[in-house]
Amino acid sequence: MPGSTGPAWYFVFVGNQLLMRFDDEGQWQPLTEADREFIERVSSRNHYMGSLGERHCYAVEADSLPGEELAGLRGLFGHADKLMFSLAGRAVQVIDWYRGHQFCGRCGGRNHEHDRDRAMVCDDCGIHAYPRLSPSIIVLIHKDDQVLLARNHRFAEGMYSTLAGFVEPGESVEETLVREVKEEVGVNVHKLTYLGSQSWPFPNSLMLGFHAEYESGDIVLQEEEIADARWFPCDDLPIIPGNVAISRWLIDAYLHKLESGN
Ligand SMILES: [Zn+2]
Repeated sequence: MPGSTGPAWYFVFVGNQLLMRFDDEGQWQPLTEADREFIERVSSRNHYMGSLGERHCYAVEADSLPGEELAGLRGLFGHADKLMFSLAGRAVQVIDWYRGHQFCGRCGGRNHEHDRDRAMVCDDCGIHAYPRLSPSIIVLIHKDDQVLLARNHRFAEGMYSTLAGFVEPGESVEETLVREVKEEVGVNVHKLTYLGSQSWPFPNSLMLGFHAEYESGDIVLQEEEIADARWFPCDDLPIIPGNVAISRWLIDAYLHKLESGN
């Protein structure tokens, strides 16, 4: 396999649970070339993800890892930088996609791996299946020196964040944004500004991040989804997500914009 002698990072999973190893500072660490013997012993399948500089990166599936600490990717929050989070997110999505595409979705025939692309090909009808991503919007709504933040029922106590929602078939991203905001909190927004994107592996989202200016309407909650939403002054924000999440970058970018007067 590529990189079987050079420097390597291995992201090892049992199901969707990542092998958790930490350095002395509590930062999560992938396994490396020093752990190859362990990898060869425990892995049931390796997926080559590509190289980062000289280093080859692999997603490794193991059937079980008795005695090892395992956790979902949320276990990386606060223990990994953006690079490690994105690589681990790529690894779990590749593994999950591979596991879910052993058979053709059209005719039920057996799939095999494409020899060059990341694709599965049906032995019988020849259809190709590629990893699917789900585009979604995430948006910070602002009104002068206030921002609209919301919490859903699953959030930790006191935590508020930006609004998000999946793009539906046939919609533009801009249409999704206006619709989701209207559905979730009842207000109208305009003047959308795209700021950047983030892969969000829960399970396979691609988050497209925006700022949007408040236009009209009062807050009306979509109560099945949203537990609370309100305007917060920028100098008195509630608990917000940590900086591994694009929601935090969107909030920080707006605060920076206000401070710099642009
Ligand atoms: Zn088929």
